[in-house]
Amino acid sequence: MSVHDSDDQQDVLDRYARSLIGVFGAPQLVLERGDGAWVWDVDGKRYLDLVGGIAVNALGHNHPALVAAVSKQVGEMAHISNFYTSRVQVELAERVLQLAAAPAGSGVFFANSGTEAIEAAIKLSRRTGRMGIVAAEGAFHGRTTGALALTHKAAYREPFAPLIPDVAHVPYNDIEALRAAVTKDTAAVVLEPVQGEAGAIVADPAYLQAAREITTAAGALLILDEIQTGVGRTGDWFGFQSSGIVPDAITLAKGLGGGLPIGALVTFGPETTGLLTAGQHGTTFGGNPLVAAAGLSVLTTIDADGLLGHVTAMGEHIVHSVTALDHPDIAGVRGRGLLRAIVLRSDLSAGIAAAAREAGFLVNPVAPSAIRLVPPLVISREELDLFVAALPSLISTAKESSP
Ligand SMILES: *Cc1c(COP(=O)(O)O)cnc(C)c1O
Repeated sequence: MSVHDSDDQQDVLDRYARSLIGVFGAPQLVLERGDGAWVWDVDGKRYLDLVGGIAVNALGHNHPALVAAVSKQVGEMAHISNFYTSRVQVELAERVLQLAAAPAGSGVFFANSGTEAIEAAIKLSRRTGRMGIVAAEGAFHGRTTGALALTHKAAYREPFAPLIPDVAHVPYNDIEALRAAVTKDTAAVVLEPVQGEAGAIVADPAYLQAAREITTAAGALLILDEIQTGVGRTGDWFGFQSSGIVPDAITLAKGLGGGLPIGALVTFGPETTGLLTAGQHGTTFGGNPLVAAAGLSVLTTIDADGLLGHVTAMGEHIVHSVTALDHPDIAGVRGRGLLRAIVLRSDLSAGIAAAAREAGFLVNPVAPSAIRLVPPLVISREELDLFVAALPSLISTAKESSP
């Protein structure tokens, strides 16, 4: 069969199965284009995208500001190596520091992904002269071998053991367990302000405040993984900002490039920033002009379009409208802003996600009894209402088709 025979879904999926390594399993769809909160598959069927590239497409698909910024930049220069810099790279770093209210002497290291931002954070922590890292049960910090040691899920870790040593996992939101785990050998405590992959589990503000106090007392770094929570996702620029604390570092990725691959380690204050010096870390692509232009257009658009307030309002709207269904199979809604999970009373999430796809909605069954919603930050109330209105029938379909 020629590669040009057909571009219908099955043809592409068959060729996928013969040409890509199967780490993702079989893809659910072959998508062709997007606009705002909508995507179309190669058969022309339309879906409301409540996955948003897993919290990546902050401005939705095909946003004119992102298209214009990236198109202009790629026509000037896309990449130059980190022997050189560009105005746009420096502007993005300055803007991130300003939005994070980082003090003088703070700094940014640009990477290409979330897991690479975590690798930079691990190397930063080693420069304290200590080895130990304390992370949380349920944590997801990435798939490279360093970050994997901090990720909690056994199925991800065990095939690749042994990983870097001296990483302890403690129950999330348990202040006393954290206090007991942090010692004078702890280089860093690494926590997500909301655990995304665990199903939108929110850190109590008191937990983050205690983490700040415990790490300061022990002389350890507090590193917050904001790869999913950062860049407006929670309704604040960064998830830590509602807790009133200042971390020593945060990691960013997902939403920052609006779909272009960029990650970042942000260090707060001169002491932490000075831990990594010339020659101690690097990257070829990280923070190149193309992705920096994308990042700047995302931050500028979130600001100009008042998206932080919109995210808070839409997040509350999801909670109110799903709660108002008063559905016997729904236990509640977790999360903050537009990082949400609909929690079910039984393991229906895979069935609901399949029924949703059939009905033209993309959602993520993040856990057997939780459906994660991480739509573009630009999604409208009317678009969310389409999904909430369909939810009872999606649940019925899932129950009929489950054994
Ligand atoms: C997605 C994610 C990562 C990993 O990011 P990649 O870009 O997939 O490497 C790390 N931490 C958190 C909290 C994430 O949500």
